[in-house]
Amino acid sequence: MRTVITGGAGFIGSHLCERFLAEGHEVICVDNLLTGTRRNINHLADNAHFRFLEHNISEPVEIDGPVDNVLHFASPASPVDYLAHPIPTLKVGSLGTHNALGLAKAKNAQFLLASTSEIYGDPEIHPQREDYWGNVNPIGPRGCYDEAKRFAEAITMAYHRFHGVRTRIVRIFNTYGPRMRLNDGRVLPNFINQALRGEPITIYGKGDQTRSFCYVSDLVEGIYRLLNVDHSLPVNLGNPTEITVHQLALEIIALVEGTKSKIVYHDLPEDDPKRRRPDITKAQTLLGWNPTVDRSVGFRRTLEYFRSVL
Ligand code: UDP
Repeated sequence: MRTVITGGAGFIGSHLCERFLAEGHEVICVDNLLTGTRRNINHLADNAHFRFLEHNISEPVEIDGPVDNVLHFASPASPVDYLAHPIPTLKVGSLGTHNALGLAKAKNAQFLLASTSEIYGDPEIHPQREDYWGNVNPIGPRGCYDEAKRFAEAITMAYHRFHGVRTRIVRIFNTYGPRMRLNDGRVLPNFINQALRGEPITIYGKGDQTRSFCYVSDLVEGIYRLLNVDHSLPVNLGNPTEITVHQLALEIIALVEGTKSKIVYHDLPEDDPKRRRPDITKAQTLLGWNPTVDRSVGFRRTLEYFRSVL
């Protein structure tokens, strides 16, 4: 099997590269290193089954030889990153998805789109099920990411319905673990970084907004299973254990023993979703999948990683 992974030098992408290599695939990692880094894949460089192609998938791509799977994971994905790169974010969700689908179609390969819980925007139903259409502000600061991913889902379904491409769509909820960028601006790297440095823990708003955090190995397992079933409609993957941002801050302060960090409160960013939790009934039924890594274990592993790179 030959598998192309766009965004393969990113956080989730690099874990997928590892997993598919372990499953005996040849892996072609395509990444322009906008938010990904060679450090995430350096340990794979000597593997004869791994190839890195530095390329922006928003430009057409040519891959020699057969391809069995195209996994499209390229995109800035943290709010800070997509606010800093709104146009590349819109392009990779639209032009990049078009190019990745074109590759899959030309090679008669299976295609898997990394979509997102941002499809649901600031959700009015809770927890979020796949048949909820969402509450997205197209012209707000998050619009560049949310609408790019909504377009990406639409074009993926069109390639499936019109061209008969075998497609999969995974809606990924907040995921964490080793290889997140310490400065990617997301809540967990921020809090751990702040706690390690003894700096103030920055809660945006009152901290009563919720998120549900999934450890990366659980997510990768779900994605691998999704590729091996016949289902073209979106599937949520995430950990349904929901906590407030305030609770998260307390847990990180307790985890980083001896930290002198105290909580400070900043303004809540515009359109910040108030609640987020996946309904994973579909993944449970379709894939026999459940998250298995408790956040007490996952947070500790992530802390160890951040300590090792600080
Ligand atoms: N957040 C926070 N402090 C930070 C970073 C983020 O309170 O230093 C909040 C943010 O406002 C949001 C939640 O944590 O409500 C998760 O933010 P993140 O950027 O990780 O991703 P999101 O789930 O919003 O895409």
